[in-house]
Amino acid sequence: MGRSSQTATSTKSVRTPRLYVADCQHTQGEVVVSERNHHYLARVLRAQVGQSLVVFNGQGLTAEATISAISKKQTQITITGGQHTPDVRLPITLGLAWIKADRFDWALQKATELGVSAIQPMITAFSDSPPKGERLQKKEAHWAEILINACEQSGNNWIPELRPLCSIDQIETAIPTHVAHPGSTETATLLTGHQQLLIGPEGGFSEAEIESLRTRQVKPISLGPTILRAETAAIVGLTLLGSRLGHY
Ligand code: SAH
Repeated sequence: MGRSSQTATSTKSVRTPRLYVADCQHTQGEVVVSERNHHYLARVLRAQVGQSLVVFNGQGLTAEATISAISKKQTQITITGGQHTPDVRLPITLGLAWIKADRFDWALQKATELGVSAIQPMITAFSDSPPKGERLQKKEAHWAEILINACEQSGNNWIPELRPLCSIDQIETAIPTHVAHPGSTETATLLTGHQQLLIGPEGGFSEAEIESLRTRQVKPISLGPTILRAETAAIVGLTLLGSRLGHY
């Protein structure tokens, strides 16, 4: 798990462990933590009763907590002092084509650190064929875990929405959308409000896809004169738009 309790500096200051606890809806009370969190606290951290924690529910609520009971089987925490934090996510949905698994995972982690609001995995003409059925479900669970880990690590209290894998034809274009396309002569114009950025696979978008997107008012934009790998393009694009929006 990508956790945040490691030694933060060479002076050995240790940060309070930060855990995603989905059901800490109430700002006070006792919660038996999930198997995943129990494993981390009991086995990885070897935490004891009285250990302080910071918990968050992925929907803006963050709270202080203390371990009140810990056994081989489960960990119980007492939550105190919760507060709602403002949604500071980037008002951007990232539409990311299906690319090699490790690169896709990397892009999800970095996009979450940058505060993306939603992630829309896409199948395009030149993307690999996606897994199906149970394998796809496992993949989606794996992606959800990456988003949680990235939020735990980065102090982001808002987990991005992870949309179900869809084909590029099904992409929602009711919100202003940019498609990153090498060779485009346009750069991203300043748009306000929620927007979307589409990033293609290693083979890029097909000309037919770009034409179809154009008819849906989606403008191709350039991310500079060099061709970036898809995962780099995702991060550059989010940073560029985020900076235009005054987010960074
Ligand atoms: N082989 C493709 C490049 C694909 S790069 C080609 O030559 O067109 C993967 C994706 O990253 C692209 O589909 C695009 O969405 C994005 N990308 C990479 N470099 C870019 C650039 N300079 N400008 C805009 N988008 C870029």
